[in-house]
Amino acid sequence: MSFSSLGLSAPILAALEKSGYTQPTPIQAQAIPAILEGEDVMAAAQTGTGKTAGFTLPLLERLHQGTTARSNQVRALILTPTRELAAQVSESVSTYGQGLGLKSTVVFGGVKINPQMMKLRAGADILVATPGRLLDLYQQNAVRFDQLEVLILDEADRMLDMGFIHDIKRILKVLPKKRQNLLFSATFSQEIRSLARGLVHNPVEISVSPRNTTAEKVEQSVYLVEKKQKPALLVHLLVENNWGQTLIFTKTKHGANKLTRYLEEGGFKAAAIHGNKSQAARTKALAGFKDKRIQLLVATDIAARGLDIDLLPQVVNYELPNVAEDYVHRIGRTGRAGASGQAISLVAGDEGKLLKAIEKLIKQEIPRQQAEGFKPPVMEDQPGNPRPSGKKPPANGKKRRPARRRNPAGGNDKPRAAATAKS
Ligand code: AMP
Repeated sequence: MSFSSLGLSAPILAALEKSGYTQPTPIQAQAIPAILEGEDVMAAAQTGTGKTAGFTLPLLERLHQGTTARSNQVRALILTPTRELAAQVSESVSTYGQGLGLKSTVVFGGVKINPQMMKLRAGADILVATPGRLLDLYQQNAVRFDQLEVLILDEADRMLDMGFIHDIKRILKVLPKKRQNLLFSATFSQEIRSLARGLVHNPVEISVSPRNTTAEKVEQSVYLVEKKQKPALLVHLLVENNWGQTLIFTKTKHGANKLTRYLEEGGFKAAAIHGNKSQAARTKALAGFKDKRIQLLVATDIAARGLDIDLLPQVVNYELPNVAEDYVHRIGRTGRAGASGQAISLVAGDEGKLLKAIEKLIKQEIPRQQAEGFKPPVMEDQPGNPRPSGKKPPANGKKRRPARRRNPAGGNDKPRAAATAKS
């Protein structure tokens, strides 16, 4: 199948050729015709499947045929959970839309609002936004939706995880009732389905990767290692395997900072990216990583969500995520759009349960590996293994109540929703 057979016009086809795309990906082959027809769409697609072009291309095609946006008006609104994703989607809009003469703009929090108000004054055919900043702009009369034709929710599952549901509902209330709705989400949980009920009408449902399966081309492995040996093992693996650009996930912001300092002291070019960093620092770290001035990007889940970094060969889970689905998102950073990749997890004695939950979710056992000179830890939850406290089970055969761990998250982050700075 070719892009031209999908009904896209010449300037868009030229932009695709320039990007080097020869064939639509499965999500594009299914979503483009449905969106061009004006249908509502509900698509289960992870990042890396080409979903951004899947909604951007037909959107550009449709908008290009209509009248342009008036002052402060918006014709298509794309909502994304994070600032980085907003910037990335906006870049795609500009790339694929070159030569069409449409106006597009991106707004997100963490940067000055005034320049965004100025830009919106001219109107935007396409506005890419994070929910919090969009509401601020709306309340200040900087943006109007009378001309709105299409609403797109990108990474809807993550928006809910990040606590944006109320913002989304407030935004939906001020949009015109008659519009096309496109909902993209990596997974379709009950919450997403209930959001969808009030949003999409008779949607075309598209699913390109079955729920919670990991990217096929990603080679996964686990190193069981004592917690205190993790920094040394990471450096050992980086050096032994000669890894280049590597994205490293930690569970907490504090953990990300600490590991980044350790790697820098070891002579690596590393940077951290997480919610406590200013937008300027996040943008700088990401740009440095993309253009290879920085070799190691240490990230928490929320900051890294949806990042599209070309041909990233290596992802390391320095700590496993608390939420098993995040593992799937994390390793989705590699092996993107057909490229192969490697995802390695360093698992300490107290992470056995998290590992089990991940393996249950992805329905496969991740192969174990051992690095020379690094001892596997005692796994806390294996039957027969001594408990780390050294306490024996009671002799009377009664089960001991599980010991309460003071901080099960093992870090200093607040609960998920509260920890997330709204943009
Ligand atoms: P996404 O899932 O939208 O984040 O896209 C993942 C990556 O695939 C991006 O780097 C896109 O540039 C790339 N991509 C999207 N569509 C195609 C295509 N048809 N052929 C090759 N690469 C593509």
